[in-house]
This record gives sequence, C-alpha cells and structure tokens, in this order.
Amino acid sequence: MIPAPCDLGNSTESLKNSIINHVRFTLGAYVESASQNDWWVATCLAIRDRVMDHATKSRTIHRQSGVRRVHYLSLEYLMGRLLENNLRNSGLYDVTKQALSEMGKDLDELLESEPDMGLGNGGLGRLAACFMDSLSTVNLPAIGYGIHYEFGLFRQEFINGRQVEHPDAWMRDGSPWKIARPSYRQSIQLYGRVVQKFDDYGRPHYEWVETKQLLGLPWDIPIVGYDSHTVNVLRLWQAQADEDFNFQVFNEGSYVEALRDKAIAETVSKVLYPNDSTENGKELRLVQQYFFVACSLADIVRRFKVGYTLPWSEFPSKAAIQLNDTHPAVAIPELMRILVDLEGLEWEEAWDICQKTFSYTNHTLLPEALEMWSVSLFERVLPRHLQIIYEINQRFLEQDVEGKWPGDNEKKRSLSLIEERGGRYVRMANLSVLGSHATNGVAALHTRLLCERLFADFYALYPDRFLNLTNGITFRRWLDVCNPELSALITEAIGKDWKKDAALLRNLDPYADDPAFRARYAQIKRGHKAKLAEVIQAECGVTVSPDALFDVQIKRLHEYKRQHLNLLNIVTMYREILDNPDADFHPRVFIFGAKAAPGYFLAKNIIHAINAVAAKVNNDPRVGDKLKVVFLPNYRVSLAEKIIPAADLSEQISTAGKEASGTGNMKLALNGSLTIGTLDGANVEIEEEVGSENIFIFGLTVEEVTALKAKGYNPWDYYWANKKLRDTIDWISSDYFTGNAEEFLPLRRSLLDHGDPYLCLADYQPYVDAQAKVDAAYKDKDHWMKMAILNTARVGKFSSDRTILEYAEKVWHLPQVVVND
Ligand SMILES: *Cc1c(COP(=O)(O)O)cnc(C)c1O
Repeated sequence: MIPAPCDLGNSTESLKNSIINHVRFTLGAYVESASQNDWWVATCLAIRDRVMDHATKSRTIHRQSGVRRVHYLSLEYLMGRLLENNLRNSGLYDVTKQALSEMGKDLDELLESEPDMGLGNGGLGRLAACFMDSLSTVNLPAIGYGIHYEFGLFRQEFINGRQVEHPDAWMRDGSPWKIARPSYRQSIQLYGRVVQKFDDYGRPHYEWVETKQLLGLPWDIPIVGYDSHTVNVLRLWQAQADEDFNFQVFNEGSYVEALRDKAIAETVSKVLYPNDSTENGKELRLVQQYFFVACSLADIVRRFKVGYTLPWSEFPSKAAIQLNDTHPAVAIPELMRILVDLEGLEWEEAWDICQKTFSYTNHTLLPEALEMWSVSLFERVLPRHLQIIYEINQRFLEQDVEGKWPGDNEKKRSLSLIEERGGRYVRMANLSVLGSHATNGVAALHTRLLCERLFADFYALYPDRFLNLTNGITFRRWLDVCNPELSALITEAIGKDWKKDAALLRNLDPYADDPAFRARYAQIKRGHKAKLAEVIQAECGVTVSPDALFDVQIKRLHEYKRQHLNLLNIVTMYREILDNPDADFHPRVFIFGAKAAPGYFLAKNIIHAINAVAAKVNNDPRVGDKLKVVFLPNYRVSLAEKIIPAADLSEQISTAGKEASGTGNMKLALNGSLTIGTLDGANVEIEEEVGSENIFIFGLTVEEVTALKAKGYNPWDYYWANKKLRDTIDWISSDYFTGNAEEFLPLRRSLLDHGDPYLCLADYQPYVDAQAKVDAAYKDKDHWMKMAILNTARVGKFSSDRTILEYAEKVWHLPQVVVND
C-alpha cells in the first residue's frame, strides 16, 4: 500500500504546515531562528509541492494521448524571479501571504530576496520565458530546452559612471525551483573524425570516431500557467565530464591531471555569452550550441522510441521543434545524422522528416548578427555535421536552385549554405530556412523586410514557407504580477477573464471617458511613481518628484536602439533650461536601464556619457526639479517590473528597419505608458491598435532610410544646418561634463566622422519636436490619463497567448490538451 501524500491543501493552515515542515525537515532549522533565506526556500518548496503533481500528470496525459508536442529550443531564457509569478498564476498568493503573516513573516520581503534567473541577454530570452508561461496557460503540450548556465548575464555596476561587470552567481546556493533528472542524463560526442565504412552488401555509411564525450545532466523547472493545470517543464542541460574517459590516466596515478579535463568539460555550461544578438565565432559558443542541441534531440528521440512503436515517418506527427533564432540550427544536421547514420534511413526520407519537424524564428536583420561559423572551426568540432551540411547544400543547389534559375551562379552564391567570400563560412540562417517548413518574422514590418530583403531569394523559391507571427508578452507577469493594483482595477471594471483572453481588455475602452475611473487609474500610476522614486533614491542617490513626467528607455544598450539620440535631446533640453529659465517645461525625469556587452566599447562610452550628463544636470541648482537624469544600474527582469508600472513615456526610438519587434514597447503600453517611437518593429502595430492620436510617432520610415542611404547620407550636413544640434554635440564632446574633452570622442566620432550609421542626426529635429508635443500633451493630465487608459485597453493583441496560439495553429499544428485537477 502506498500511503496518501501529506496534506497539500490550499488552506492557510495547510500552507503554514508545509512551510514549517520544510524549514524543519528540508532545511534543518529551528522555526524560531530560521534565516530569511530559509523562509524563502521553504515557501518556494511548499508551492513547488503543490504544482509537481500537475507536472507529472501533464507529462502522463501528453504521453498517453500521443499528441504532438512542441520542443522549444533556445539558448536563452530570461525568466526573472519565479515565486511571485507562480503564486499569482496558481491562485495561492493571498493564502500564502496570510500563512506567512500568521507566522510573523512578510511575503513581500521574501519575494524581494529572490535572485533573478537571468539566463538570457534581452528580448530574445525574455520572449522564450513569456512563451513558456503562455504554453502552460493555454494548455499546449510543450517542453523548453536550454542550457543550465552556472553564471547568467553579468551584474552591472557603475564606477565613476562607467560600466563594470561582475559574475552573476544566481544559483550559488542552489535553487528550490529546479529538479535534477539524472535518469535522463545524455552522453554526446564532439571533435574526432569521420570514417567511411561498408556493410555486408557493400553499401557505404559514415561513422564519427575518436570523439570526446560530454555528459548532459537535465534540470527541470516546472512552468506554472495561469488558472490551468498544465505544468510544462523547462529542461536545462548542465555539462559534466564523462568520468570514464580518463580512466586510463586515473589508473596511472595522474589523479589531478584526470580532474583537469573534468573541469574543462564543465566549462561548457559555465557562462552565458553576454552579447545581445552578435557572437563572433568563439569555439566554446559553438560547443555550447551543439551540446544543448544534441542532448535535447537525444531526449526527444528517446521519448519517441519509448512512447511509440511507430515508423520514423511518424516522427514529425509527434514532435515539432522550434528554433529560437539560428542558435540551435545545428539541430538540423544533428537530426539528419541520427536518422541517416544511426537509424539507417535513406537521405530523402530523413530530409523530409527534418523539414516537417523544424520551424525557425528569425529575430534580426542586422548583418553583424547573422550567425556564421568558419568552416575550419566547424570541421574540427563537428566534422560529420559539416559533411552533412555540404550534402544538403549540394542537393539544394543542384535541384531546387538549378531548377528554378538554370545556370544562374549569382543565385547559387546568394542561396548557398556556405559563404565563399573572405574565407569560408557556414551560414546558419540559410541552413535554418532550408531545413524548416516554416520561417517566421516577429512583427509585420520585420517579416515583410525578411521576404523583400534578407531572404528574398528563398522567398522567391518557397513563398509558402514564410509567415509573420508578431511577438507578445505574458500579461500575467507584465500586468497582474508587476502591477497588481492596476490588475485589480481592471478586474473590478470588466471582470477577470482578460487574464486569459486579453482581447477582452477592449471592454475597458469606455472607461477612458469616466472621470472617476481616470482618477483611480492616475492614482495607481502615482503610487508606482512614488515607489520608483524610492528605488531611484536608494540606487542612484537622486531625489525625484513623482509629479514629474517619467520618461523611460529600458533595453540593451545598442547603437541601433539609439540611447544616444535620447541623450542628444536631454542635452538640448538642459541648454534650453539654462538659456531660458522661465520656459514652461513640465518637470521631467529621464530614466535609463541598459547593459552593454562587455566588449562593445561605443555602447560603454554612451553609458558613461549619460551618467556624466546626469551628474551635471542633477547637481545644477539652475535646473532644480525641471530635469533629472537617472541611470538605474543592473537592468534585469525584476527591475523592469518596478520601472514599467511607473512609466509615463516609453522610448522606442530605434532606426526604422533595425528593431525586429521589440517587446519592451508592449510591456510599457500595457501599463499605460505612451510611446514616443519610430515606425519600427511592433511600434507600427501598436500605433494601429491604440490609434495615432494616442502615440507619438516621429522620424524616418524604412523606405526613407533606404532612400537617404542610397542618395548618400552625410551627418555633417545636418550638423552644419542645425545650430542647436551642433551646439549640443559640441557641448557633449567638450570638457564640460567630465573635465576631459577626449572622454566622449568615440561617441562624437561615431555620430560625425564614422557617418552616423543609425541616422541619429537625421532624426534629431523630428525627435526634439515630438518631445515638445509630449511636453504639451502632459500638461493636460486628465487627457493624458485618457490616452494612457486607451493604451492599456487596446494592446490585447500583444498577449503572448495570442502569439502562441498562432504558432500552434499555423506552424506546430498542436491540439490544446486540458489537464484536470
Ligand atoms: C522585455 C525585456 C527586454 C526587451 O526589451 P526591448 O525594449 O524590446 O529591447 C530586455 N530586457 C529585459 C529585462 C526585458 O524584460
């Protein structure tokens, strides 16, 4: 007889019992003297106990019903904190708060002590995290696969205004959310060489021999959806040495030598590469990609073989695999290797299975972000995969390309999986399109540019493979969790169903005209601004007024995102205040949050420039409260959750055509922040949804950018034609801000001598004019609140539930499977 499990009820008493049991029996502490961390761990475990059965049940039901599952492959998951999200989604928030409070503990304090799970750089990793939330919420059978990095994205500190990086040891003390699954450990191969062998019938095949082995230990993190019993898992692989590999050395007495190799093997999952959307051919990065892909595919194939006795042709009917950008694209030749070399399938059948299984999301048009691996590196690390890529390429060029454009060598050069100019490189984007049945962009404009520009020739060959799936965000974390006050106000007005069906937010539209509702909405915004003012005081030592306009730019630091355009406007305003102390500006606080890649020197120079301007402005008695500039250090999910509910204005000012979608723009609009932005990425669709009277659009369009560049863009023309602009740039690059006129020369040179590649100077005056309109609009506070409410009411389209249901319908062909309690 297996006894019934202990009480896992959802009453206050049950929760108190569970938490205390974990304090005593899991952590071995006295309740009287348990540390804050003990209480946090015990609370997480009490909640985890209440969701694990649903994880097991979800897995069982998915297996038994034999449905197709999606396997989301991503090198990044920017999860943030998990406890509050899991409490709100599972409906246990109030009862847990009560239980803790009856034991003299404050839930909010515990929530604040959780380290962020920062296993991603920015938008791409956060998208994967939002998708995991939506997949569980809308009851889709899914598994997320990634890497269990020991160190996530670096912690950022400013010293004298300059960025300094520190390692992020997010799980130094372990994490109560992750569960090791040693029985699903995988062993994978790397390096070595390929030999051709013949079977008894004289048929050739290839074997990959003399390889190094690496083990992958999976850690599972349960993903709790909102008001749903589907609990999918995020499975993250940790690299381990294969101990047997060095048994010989070990026996010879070189114990320490043997363990050196072990240490090297374990570096594979040691650290997240900190570059957002560029990686430049580092061997360890390729090894990371192959490691997690090979472990994941082995896991998927294991599940197929255990669960079913079906022919391989049925594999795609059980498994869809989504490639989040090209980072996991080596999965395509890996599946070919499994099917052809290990399972003995014919090439054509294997290729058909591959194309039916994979689909690919492109995240960027930036040429420097398109992944390419040098052929020589690829050959050393993955010799068999390179052969397979060559064969895929040869068949493709000889059949499809030659068939469509006979004798056209230019087309072959453009479509080839191998770049031949300036050295030989494997083009991972071309491989991804070719190996998939669907390629999607992440906003309507981005998808159009993919078809017209980046993949124009592929689009001509296979028009049906391309589609748009506009990104989204989970409204649970980005409204319900980060702004519970607004969430409650919305629910009071229109009911709670908007949390699962975001289109219902439109029912809020009429409330924009209700003065009482506007007042309460404004009061909630004011409350968040007061709280953020405290954070700013604590983090930056700057006093700001919650009555100022909070103008927010939070995102990775990138030239294309143009934090330096924002800075030009700030310095322009500063000069105007000094010129005309009686000018009628509404007081404004410019708030930045951004990490720069550690090797991106211009981005770091821009951070330093913003901090230097901030130091001057904030301490200039002539400015007073009219203008403040703060750069909050260490931008991350948990900080975003504090800034976003407090924002009045959302800066989305990338050069048109450069930001694939953006998702920060969606989070801010949802929380009633008006957008000042270019017609780029999802801003275009945000304008369509909220109406052009509720957004501040400015600047060059994609077509205008192209035309301007074609005719020959020269930033000096704008510099000489606009005295305000000239004075602004010259002032920044004088000794005024740091005492050293050389300090911001890199910034000045990029804007002038190096041709201003992102057209800041061309968009400067339209941006300054748009900011003047913002100032004028904010003076009518009541009308501003109306616009803010209409933003909240009209951005339902940008729920990641909508995005995920579109993937399920148009790409994965997945059924929704409801898991009962
Ligand atoms: C949403 C989010 C991003 C992406 O912001 P964009 O403005 O779309 O670039 C980056 N980092 C964090 C922490 C986020 O939450």
